[in-house]
Amino acid sequence: MQTLNDFNFENKKALIRVDFNVPLNSDFMVTDATRIEAAKTTIIKVLEDGGSAILMSHLGRPKGVEDQFSLRHIVDKVTEAIGVKVQFINDCVGEKAIQAAKNLQPGQVLLLENLRFYNEEKKGDNNFAEQLSKLGDIYVNDAFGTAHRAHASTAIIAEFFPENKCFGNLLATEIESINKVLTNSEKPVTAILGGAKVSSKIGVIENILDKVDHIIIGGGMTFTFVKALGGKIGNSLVEDDKISLALDILALAKAKNVEIHLPVDAIIADDFNNNATTQEVNTSEIPDGWMGLDSGSKTAEKFAKVIAKSKTILWNGPLGVFEMENFSKGTIALGNAIAEATANGAFSLVGGGDSVAAVKQFGFADKVSYVSTGGGAMLEMLEGKTLPGIEAILK
Ligand code: AMP
Repeated sequence: MQTLNDFNFENKKALIRVDFNVPLNSDFMVTDATRIEAAKTTIIKVLEDGGSAILMSHLGRPKGVEDQFSLRHIVDKVTEAIGVKVQFINDCVGEKAIQAAKNLQPGQVLLLENLRFYNEEKKGDNNFAEQLSKLGDIYVNDAFGTAHRAHASTAIIAEFFPENKCFGNLLATEIESINKVLTNSEKPVTAILGGAKVSSKIGVIENILDKVDHIIIGGGMTFTFVKALGGKIGNSLVEDDKISLALDILALAKAKNVEIHLPVDAIIADDFNNNATTQEVNTSEIPDGWMGLDSGSKTAEKFAKVIAKSKTILWNGPLGVFEMENFSKGTIALGNAIAEATANGAFSLVGGGDSVAAVKQFGFADKVSYVSTGGGAMLEMLEGKTLPGIEAILK
């Protein structure tokens, strides 16, 4: 695996694909700079070697050039995050970009305009990738969040740097963390899969059945399994077309000696609303008119016991509708159990969309081993897929 440390960037221009697709408020201020901060060590390594850094990213989903998606909105935040004044050029290819890159001196940083102002970026256009490639000497991919896309700047461009290409620190750490769970894991390995639907996690469940000892299932997915087992789930979320699949998963897990743990009790509500009337019941005895929106206290104890004996833990997806305070307790209890296991020496990886939001919201980010920066990319890796952005560097 080619990483930053395989290169000396002295007098070199590093063309770094970062993922600065950060949330902005209505005043175009960055509201969460995690992704910018995550690229810092890569940029600093290049500068400390005596090189310069040209940063390229997308922001949002513009249709052509749309000022609201301009990366100029984030220049000050990038400057603040890396502690080096960042220059900006309002294009990413063409004469202006080439001149700006050419003028860049060692120790300097240039941010290019939004790559997706050109639809060639998402199409993975070869010619556009070649134009981009002219800006730098060494291509560095540090954009885990888009590594599952075969876009011009994330994958196709690597062909123009047959030797001079590598992973940035962030992408390398993401790959190592996932490998630590899926391949070099210390046993017992426990995967916790929550979130809304079985259908969006099925690929992950199938792939990890060969790699884990325990699977904890939670969130909305629970009720498809409970119904499959003959339980009464009232008006809880269910995917009726996935019932036989749920039974297949349970059978397959048994055959592979993987223990599946389902919530034994639920906080049920008479409405999908934080102020709804609630009660705690067995997961398989939910009356009509009521829906399970969180896991209950017996479940918290049961899951905590499994987690306490795990040496490797993967967490993807909340155990309830954590966005509403009254249905966040199951997710918080789970976070506490994972934090405790981590403090006792387990390796814990949290990734994939909403669990990252939950971990940050409830203050667990510093108490787990690693929080992934990629949602879709993380899920695809857990599904066992080879990501184009990773493959392009390895090739
Ligand atoms: P996902 O993106 O698949 O990880 O799903 C995350 C979403 O699942 C969150 O927005 C949660 O509110 C939602 N969720 C978790 N538990 C439940 C549940 N019991 N019923 C409905 N939605 C749920």
